[in-house]
Amino acid sequence: MGETFRALVMREGDDGKAKAAIEELTEADLPEGEVTVAVEYSTLNYKDGMVVDGNKGRLARKFPHVPGIDLAGTVEQSSDDRYKPGDKVVLTGWHVGERYWGGYSQKARLKADWLVPLPDGLDTKHAMAVGTAGFTAMLCVMALEDHGLDAGNGPVLVTGASGGVGSIATAILAKRGYQVTALTGRTEEADYLKKLGATDVLERSALSEPSDKPLEAETWNGAVDTVAGKVLARAMGQMKYGTSIACCGLAGGPQLETTVVPLLLRGVNLLGIDSVQQPYDNRLRAWKRVDEDLPIDMLDAAMSVCGLDDLPQKAKDILKGQVRGRLVVDLNG
Ligand code: NDP
Repeated sequence: MGETFRALVMREGDDGKAKAAIEELTEADLPEGEVTVAVEYSTLNYKDGMVVDGNKGRLARKFPHVPGIDLAGTVEQSSDDRYKPGDKVVLTGWHVGERYWGGYSQKARLKADWLVPLPDGLDTKHAMAVGTAGFTAMLCVMALEDHGLDAGNGPVLVTGASGGVGSIATAILAKRGYQVTALTGRTEEADYLKKLGATDVLERSALSEPSDKPLEAETWNGAVDTVAGKVLARAMGQMKYGTSIACCGLAGGPQLETTVVPLLLRGVNLLGIDSVQQPYDNRLRAWKRVDEDLPIDMLDAAMSVCGLDDLPQKAKDILKGQVRGRLVVDLNG
């Protein structure tokens, strides 16, 4: 048997439920691919929580399966000219960790097309403090700015603010000089959110009940929405004229019961954000912007670190909305 490495592997039991366990694998277990990476760090995102906690939503299709939608590490072998041994790389999206083996393994074998070179100002740990959640937050801010977000036009609303996407969106917007109102169900995290740069912290309950009016006072200059459901419906009626909402998440449920009135009478834009299939050029643009707009001390403030063995419990925590900011997984910790 060749050299072994550790991975968190999901296997389907006789009861049809997927269960996670730490296993020792060899390179012979890895799938096909052009680039073999020694993974240093991965992360826990909401989607990872769904997979590790029994594959809710049937995100993983085949078992045995290694979850982990993000990874960063060092290239060990490559049959693709774009990468050579020693290169530092990052991966988010492309259904890695869902349909394909992911980052909860000390080694991964991947398609070269899925990888991005590690941005200059980041090490692999901080790249994973960004991960899919932070990359998505950056895409949201870029979309709002591409649609005319103006720092002089009042506060930008960030929903699910103490979660992964929300924390990083708060930090990026604040660094770029926008006023940020952080909406949270955890007001005990107000100091944390202010440290990330939030100007104000608003209790989730302020937006969690429907209004009987399709239009309310014009309040928000833009919004990054990670929760959808009733909160998004309510926020839509409070947007200022001609502003935009970047919609990226559904932590509060996938439904959207509302009217088109804010779109028609106030010219509000709903911008859908997908991080999984972003084209390569826009990925590079977003990672470059992360490097410029996200100070390392903010990433440190938003990050905590765990090991592979902690993931089954942490998966339950993130599904209950109990993980603050970004949880980085140290593959060697
Ligand atoms: P987290 O679990 O880290 O954060 C979600 C936050 O939402 C929680 O921390 C909580 O924040 C808030 N929340 C939880 N439950 C509810 C509820 N019932 N009603 C209202 N708010 C709630 O997840 P992520 O930040 O990683 O992801 C957020 C969402 O974005 C998820 O739905 C995820 O699937 C999606 N996503 C989409 C991507 C894309 O490409 N479109 C990429 C990445 C994520 P608080 O306590 O502060 O209120």
